[in-house]
Amino acid sequence: MGLLALGTALDWPEAKKKADQVRRWGIEQLLATWNRAKGKERDALLWGDEVEYLVVSVDDEARKVRLSLAQVDILKSLARDEALWKAGGSVPGLKSTQEGEELPHFHPEFGRFMLEATPGKPWGIGFKDLLKVESNMRWRREIAKAHMAPNEYPITLTTFPRLGTRDDYISPYYLPSGPALRSQFVPDEIANPHIRFPTLAANIRARRGRKVEINVPIFKDKNTPEPFNDPTVDYNLHNWPEDDDVRRGAAKEGHVYMDAMAFGMGSCCLQITFQAKNMTEGRRLYDQLSPLGPIMLALTAATPIYKGFLVDTDVRWNQISRAVDCRTPEELGEVPLKNDRWRIPKSRYASNSTYISQDPRLRKEYLDPDLVVDEDLKKRLLEGGMDDLLATHFAHLFIRDPLVIFEEDLKELDLSKTDHFENLQSTNWQHMRFKPPPPEKDIGWRVEFRSMEIQITDFENAAFSIFIVLVTRAILSFDLNFYIPIQRTTENMETAHARNAVLDRKFYFRKDPFPHRVHTPSAGANTPPPSPPLGPVESEYELMTIADIINGSANGGFPGLIPLVESYLNSINIDIETRCSLARYLDVIRKRADGTLWTGARWIREFVMSHPEYKHDSVVSSEITYDLVQAVKEITEKEGKDGSAGWEMLRGKKD
Ligand code: GLU
Ligand code: MG
Repeated sequence: MGLLALGTALDWPEAKKKADQVRRWGIEQLLATWNRAKGKERDALLWGDEVEYLVVSVDDEARKVRLSLAQVDILKSLARDEALWKAGGSVPGLKSTQEGEELPHFHPEFGRFMLEATPGKPWGIGFKDLLKVESNMRWRREIAKAHMAPNEYPITLTTFPRLGTRDDYISPYYLPSGPALRSQFVPDEIANPHIRFPTLAANIRARRGRKVEINVPIFKDKNTPEPFNDPTVDYNLHNWPEDDDVRRGAAKEGHVYMDAMAFGMGSCCLQITFQAKNMTEGRRLYDQLSPLGPIMLALTAATPIYKGFLVDTDVRWNQISRAVDCRTPEELGEVPLKNDRWRIPKSRYASNSTYISQDPRLRKEYLDPDLVVDEDLKKRLLEGGMDDLLATHFAHLFIRDPLVIFEEDLKELDLSKTDHFENLQSTNWQHMRFKPPPPEKDIGWRVEFRSMEIQITDFENAAFSIFIVLVTRAILSFDLNFYIPIQRTTENMETAHARNAVLDRKFYFRKDPFPHRVHTPSAGANTPPPSPPLGPVESEYELMTIADIINGSANGGFPGLIPLVESYLNSINIDIETRCSLARYLDVIRKRADGTLWTGARWIREFVMSHPEYKHDSVVSSEITYDLVQAVKEITEKEGKDGSAGWEMLRGKKD
């Protein structure tokens, strides 16, 4: 989730005073990086995946499962053993299934019940590496488990179904309502204790002038009260001024109401980062992957429960967006602008708002004419030699205030570092992230794909990682063009939230992804066909189902991402065994898109709805949660032992 520096973190009013300085220094550090690295070439495409886990503590006697707040201890013991392993020692519980592979890395995340794991070293361009991903993910889970108490398990549900209920859903238990989050549902102890995290949450709240406000529509079942008013909301608390939020209408009728960063940033996702050959290729990948963000969000949907209720949406995205939304009433457009500089249409966690590639196919109509940018900072970037598109991108990210500022870092500007730049960059959580090379490391320009939800099994997580990697290969190899107006991607992101959007909704997508010759040529036979004269932008895209986009549309309008990936695989030389193994993963994507296989959201819903304890009142009780987690645990354990067996159980037929 970004960098962990140490020092004295400033409270909001103090941090606000230093915001301009941090932004200006951040821009200078960015320019220094840009000038140093703009010509940087890396010949090999490397990539990496990030898997986030919840740590649960299972109490079989009480038939109860709780979130375990053991993150710090688990990470400490992992670090100890990593050191031991590196020194050549044998590590208990770590008999390697991955001879010769480097030990995976484990990282902290926002929730004190979360872990993140990445491979020990980046994956290479070779196809053999693709086939190591699944077993490596499984190995990570085994290692994580080996560093937990016997009754603790790493599971990959996006959210814990009963986070924030009035129940004792955390272990150890703490009462809610601490000074940092001021939540009426979760204690401050729910967050990673590193000073960065409580400060981040507190400063978001302070900047907003009230708590974050997350209302998710309830799933209306036959016994759900109508109208539905979240029965867990306490209207009588008077611990903090923010307790007035609910008395001022923060909790909306028909919705499950949540009031803290943990309800969003306590969710788990699957992210993939690519190192491009150079900046040009990175910018191209960034733009071309952007329209895929909402599609992959809907395809990986896995989040149907919040705070003990079934909800009417399938994904985590908007909840995280609201959980870190630091905008003031002026910026939100609720009151006239007086002290703030702009109205800002999106939270700092949101879909991307601009394109950055210097691609002749990028029509100006694809860009948002109302994009908010800090003109002064943009001017400085242009003066420093950056081109307009990239300067616009960063000047847009830099409309935000830095949220966590360490006093010690404000003494002098160090252009060999990127701390101030990263301060803004890493708290702009967009669905694509463009990452300049860090100083002093042999790393190139990178692009991160961030919208996917974590999947229950490692087989699925590997399948989605591999699919995205192959899509990037096809994009670069065939010079594919997925451009649509960026506002359509914003709309698609909303569409992806609908219950069962994967099968029931349509998304804007470009019809013709193939490159066309831009100039009339003195052409040879192998040049692409000349481009048809440009028509209105609206004629370039249409509404498609996810099945159309992934598998190809029935009317032949769009070829489909899987067929494109297959053409790419046909165009290169890979052995039949590798090809068959890859086909197994691609099959998951294909079948998810056509409904043969269920999304995690659908599987979880069906599990709850067919549970004997479920009363058709939208409530996901502690008993149901215990059985759900038990089932998830069994599926992943079984998968560990026997290839696809765990995966088979997720097809929806629970016999
Ligand atoms: N867990 C967050 C999500 O689900 C992302 C945090 C990160 O950037 O690592 O999107
Ligand atoms: Mg993370």
